[in-house]
Parts: sequence; C-alpha cells; structure tokens
Amino acid sequence: MPAAVVDSQIGVVRSVKALRARVDGWRAAGETVGLVPTMGALHEGHLSLVRRSNSLARRTVASIFVNPRQFAPHEDFGSYPRQEAHDLELLQKAGCHLAYIPPPEEMYPDGFQTSIAVSEIAQGLCGGSRPHFFGGVATVVCKLINQARPDIAVFGEKDYQQLLVIRRMVKDLNMPVDIIGAPIVREADGLAMSSRNAYLSSEERAIAGRLNAVLADMAAKLSAGAEVAATIDDGRAAINAAGFAALDYLEVRSADLLEPMGPGAITRPSRVFAAVIVGKTRLIDNWPAEPPAA
Ligand code: AMP
Repeated sequence: MPAAVVDSQIGVVRSVKALRARVDGWRAAGETVGLVPTMGALHEGHLSLVRRSNSLARRTVASIFVNPRQFAPHEDFGSYPRQEAHDLELLQKAGCHLAYIPPPEEMYPDGFQTSIAVSEIAQGLCGGSRPHFFGGVATVVCKLINQARPDIAVFGEKDYQQLLVIRRMVKDLNMPVDIIGAPIVREADGLAMSSRNAYLSSEERAIAGRLNAVLADMAAKLSAGAEVAATIDDGRAAINAAGFAALDYLEVRSADLLEPMGPGAITRPSRVFAAVIVGKTRLIDNWPAEPPAA
C-alpha cells in the first residue's frame, strides 16, 4: 500500500462543491481516498480511524457533522460537545488531509425528503432503544459517501451494530466503497473512548470504567462454554451492583448477523453488547466471544 502524503496544514471545506474539487484533484493525480465520518469532539478512537485510513489510502478526509437526524427530540443534540478548532489540531497531528465540516443546510437543504431504512440488522440493540437512530445514520453516511466518493470508509467497532448497518447498506445499494472496521480504543481502565465520556462526573467516570470488565468477564465465560442465559443473569447482577443508573440492554448476539444467541452455549463467533445509563449519560460497549473449540 502507498504511504499517505503528509501535508503541513490540514484543509477545511464546508460545501459539497469544495469537497469534490479537492477529492477530484487527488483522483486526477491517481491518488486513493479514505473517508472517516465523525461527529467531532474527537479522541484517540477517532484518530485511530484516521491512521487506519492513511495506511490503506493515499489521502484521508474526516467529516465532522453532528447529524440532527440521528437524535430524537429528547436526546443530546443541543448539548453534544462541539470543539472545531481543537478537532482540527488533532486531525492535523494524526495526518488527516482534509476536514469536511458542512453546515446543516448543506447536508439537508430546504425540500430534503429522502431517507435510507435498513431493516433487520438495524432492529434490536440500539435500534430498539433509539428507533430513529439508524435511519438517520444510514442516510447521512450514504450522503457523505456520495459527496466524498471515497475508495474506503472507516468505522469503529465501538458502534458495532452501526458498522454492520453500513456494510449492509453499501452492499444492498451497490455503493462503490470498501467499508473497513477498526478495533475499539479504550482508556487505561478499559472504558471505551467516547465523546460522551466528557459528560461524566468523576464519580460517574469511576462507575463507567466497570462496564468493560463485566463484558470481558462475560465473554471469557462464554468462550469457556458457559450458557448464554446464565451469563447474562450474572452480567446483569454485576452491572446493577456497580452503581449504573439503568441497564438499557445486555445481550449476546452473533458477530456476523446479530442473531440472538442462547439460551445455551454460543455456537458461533459472538459479541456481548451493552448499553447502560451512568448518571444521565448513555454509554455503549461490546466485547467479542469465540465459541469453545469442539
Ligand atoms: P462518532 O463521532 O461518535 O459518531 O464516531 C465516529 C466514528 O468513530 C464511528 O465509526 C465510531 O465507531 C468511531 N469510534 C468512536 N469511539 C471509538 C473508539 N473508542 N474506538 C474506535 N472507534 C471509535
């Protein structure tokens, strides 16, 4: 693979026209392009996606867009952290070539009335508790891919169901882009990095740090042949004991199609999925589990 070109100054574009002009210029020079969609408030998890993109494509575009269509009216669209200048510094240091930061009216001009619905894989888990969510995500990611026309687009396994929804959409709609999944980047205590971790008080942060340990423990038990139903009961008890305000879901599903596993032992590569509430903040995480060798 070609090494990515390193620019001294990251470019910023805010319109589809300006984005296309930059990407078309790279294409005319025979360069490949990677896209990393984000909502900003960047952390090391996002930057790992930029580096992954740079290892696979010559140029990387990161988009920063807090997408109103994936938030319900009662959710945190208004308070979602926005820190553009800092994000640009981080992107530049990570070797990103271009930041695409469209205003909402560029993404959803007057008269906009199309949305993408992905069915089975978007049901349950986050699709169960946030029914509006994957429609909003699929629509904006479809638009971002059509706008940037990248060769690859990189998504984190932190949002594992989202990654599978996007893979499904790209396959179903014959979109000419390779979807790359990248591993979850964690804090020292294992908490999955998230822009929403900034909402946590120090007490909540300590509680949040216990979720990954519960999931890892569940995954280890499942990989040793434990039954799914009993493992979920144990995990639920551990989450309740850890001080979380609520457990939204705790499930074991197949890693490829998100089919529910259990009540017996897992028979296919699986993932333990959880969404919890800490204080008022909703956090998600997941952990892989392999079936025991026969
Ligand atoms: P967001 O800005 O939260 O919409 O996330 C943008 C992209 O970064 C998505 O593909 C996420 O899955 C990915 N991402 C967020 N947090 C992490 C993490 N801790 N590790 C890896 N990828 C992540």
